[in-house]
Amino acid sequence: MPGFLDAQRERVYYAPNISFRDVPLRALLAEGLPGASIVIDNDANAAGWAEFRFGVGRGVSDMVLLTIGTGVGGAIVADGRLLRGGFGVAGEIGHASLVPDGLACGCGQHGCIEQYGSGRALLRFAGEIADAGGVGLQLAAARRADGALDATNVGRLIAEGDPGALAALGQLGGWLGRACASLGAVLDPRVFAFGGGVAAAGELLLEPIREAFHAHVPARGFHPEPDFRIAELVNDAGVVGAADLARARFAVG
Ligand SMILES: [Zn+2]
Repeated sequence: MPGFLDAQRERVYYAPNISFRDVPLRALLAEGLPGASIVIDNDANAAGWAEFRFGVGRGVSDMVLLTIGTGVGGAIVADGRLLRGGFGVAGEIGHASLVPDGLACGCGQHGCIEQYGSGRALLRFAGEIADAGGVGLQLAAARRADGALDATNVGRLIAEGDPGALAALGQLGGWLGRACASLGAVLDPRVFAFGGGVAAAGELLLEPIREAFHAHVPARGFHPEPDFRIAELVNDAGVVGAADLARARFAVG
C-alpha cells in the first residue's frame, strides 16, 4: 500500500496519490478475506526490505532505497533493520522538502523531492526542453507524433542517447543527488539504491546523481563514498519484500 501507514500497520493515514484518507485497510481486507492472515505494509518499505535481504543491499547494514516511478517512494534500512519511526511513517523520502516554496505536491506541501525526482518530474523537464528548442528537437518531434511525452517515448530517446532526453534525465539526477547528499548527512547509508521505472536508465541516471551528490555532500572531498546502485529485483521487489515481512510477522519457517 503506498502512503502513510500507522505503526501497527492497521490503518492508512493518508495516501498522497490516491484518495485514501484515514482508511482502516486491514479491517476492510479481513472483512473481504475471512480466515486469512493479513499483513499490510508500505510498498516502498516492502521493496526496500527485499533489496536489502535478497537484492542490491545484500551484505550492507545501512541502505536507502528510492523508487523513482510516478512518485518517489523511499525505504531506509538502518543497522540492519527497516526504519519504521515513532509513528510508523518513516522513510517517506519523497515528501522531504527540497525546494523552498516549490511546486505543489499531493501531500499538501510544496517543493517535495517527489516533485523534482519522480517519473512525472522527468516528463515535465522533457517538456520544458522540448519547448525551448535546440537540443529539444527530438523530444518535440516525439510529442507531436505521439500526442504527448510519456515514459515510452522519453525512455526510447534516453536509450538512443538523444541529447535533449539525456538533459532531462540529468536534471532529474541532479535533484536526486542533491537530495541524497542531505539524506547522507542524516542516515549515512553505504548504499543508495534506485528502483522504479526510471531506474531502467541505469548508469545514465546514476552518473548525474553521483555528480550532484559530490557537489552538495557535507565535508566535500573528505566524505566517504557511498555506492550508488540500480536495484536488482525490479518489479518483484514489492512482492518479495511483502512476503518476507509477512513471514517475519507470523514467524513462519
Ligand atoms: Zn509531498
